[in-house]
Amino acid sequence: MLIVPEREIADLMTREAAFDAVEQVFASMASGDAYNFPVVREAIGHEDALYGFKGGFDRAGLTLGLKAGGYWPNNLEKHGLINHQSTVFLFDPDTGRPTAMVGGNLLTALRTAAASSVSIKHLARTDAKILGMIGAGHQAAFQLRAALEQRNFEKVIGWNYHPEMLPNIEKVAAEAGIPFEAVPLDGMRQADVIISITSAFAPSLMADHVSAGTHVACMGTDTKGKQEVESALLAGAGVFTDEVAQSVTIGEAQHAVAEGLIKESDVAQLGAVINGTHPGRSSDDQITLFDGTGVGLQDLAVAASVVELAVRKGIAIEVDF
Ligand code: NAD
Repeated sequence: MLIVPEREIADLMTREAAFDAVEQVFASMASGDAYNFPVVREAIGHEDALYGFKGGFDRAGLTLGLKAGGYWPNNLEKHGLINHQSTVFLFDPDTGRPTAMVGGNLLTALRTAAASSVSIKHLARTDAKILGMIGAGHQAAFQLRAALEQRNFEKVIGWNYHPEMLPNIEKVAAEAGIPFEAVPLDGMRQADVIISITSAFAPSLMADHVSAGTHVACMGTDTKGKQEVESALLAGAGVFTDEVAQSVTIGEAQHAVAEGLIKESDVAQLGAVINGTHPGRSSDDQITLFDGTGVGLQDLAVAASVVELAVRKGIAIEVDF
C-alpha cells in the first residue's frame, strides 16, 4: 500500500492534472461508467465535528474508494490545524485490498476549483472577458486561479459579504497580471462568467444581477439549506451539475425544485456536455449555470492522479499492509 502525505501534495499535484482528472470522471459519470455512493455525514457529538464519507467506483478508470473527513470548527484555535480535514483511501477493485492513502485537504480545494473550471471550458462563451467572483474565502482563491486559465479574461470583479476579505482574491488576480475591481452585487451585470463560492444560507446573487449570455458556477452550496443565488436565476437558465441527485437535494437546485420553478429533469449532467451527448449552451444569449455540489468520484480521481505522480517521482511511501 502506498501513502502520499498531505505535505507532499502541493509539490506534486498540478492544476492541469486536477482538471484532466475531474473532466474525465464527469464524463465517466454521464456515460454510466462511474457512480457515487450515498454520502454519509454525521454530527459526531464531539468537538462540534461533522464527519462523513464520500465514495464511489469508476469502472472506466478502475478507481474505487472513499474520502473520509469533515469539519472540526475548533481545530485552528485549539490545535493550529485547518478546520477541514480529509483523507482519501483507494482500493484495488479486483481484490478489495487497500492500495493508497492520500492527504485530501489540498486535493479538495484543487478538485473543487477544477470542477468550475471544467464548467467554464464547456459552457462559458468563448469570448468571455470579465470574470466575477462572489466569495473571497479559502476556496475562492483556488477557484479564481483555475478559472483564469480557461478564457482570455481581461478583468476580475469581486463582491464579498465580508469586504475585508477581498484582498484574498485581489492578490490572485494581481499574480496573474489582471486588474481587479471591487463591485456592488449589481456590478456583476458586467461579468461574462461568475463564480460563487460562499457558505451562505441566503441568496446574494439575484436574477437581475446577471446579464444574458453569462455562465454562472455555483460552488458553495453543498448542504441542505445553503443557498447562494436567487432561485429565479435557475428558472431562466440552462442548468448543469456534477450529479443530478445531489444538485436537487443538497445543491443550489434544491431551492428552485422545492419552489416548483424547475424540475429534476431540467438539470443536465456536465459530463453529458463533455461526452457530446448534450449540446450544452444553446445560444450566445443563454445564461448557463453549473451547480457544483462536489462528488466523491472527484476526490478519488485527483487522488489516483497524485498517487501516479508520487510513484513517478519516487515520493510515495510504501508500507506492507
Ligand atoms: P471560508 O469560510 O474560507 O469562506 C466563506 C465565504 O463565504 C467567505 O467569502 C465569506 O465572506 C462568505 N460568507 C459567509 N457568510 C456569508 C453570507 N451570509 N452571505 C454571503 N457570503 C457569506 O469557506 P471556503 O473554504 O472558502 O468554502 C466556501 C464554501 O464552499 C463552503 O460552503 C463549503 O462548504 C463549500 N465547498 C464546496 C465544495 C464543492 O465541491 N462544491 C468543496 C469545498 C467547499
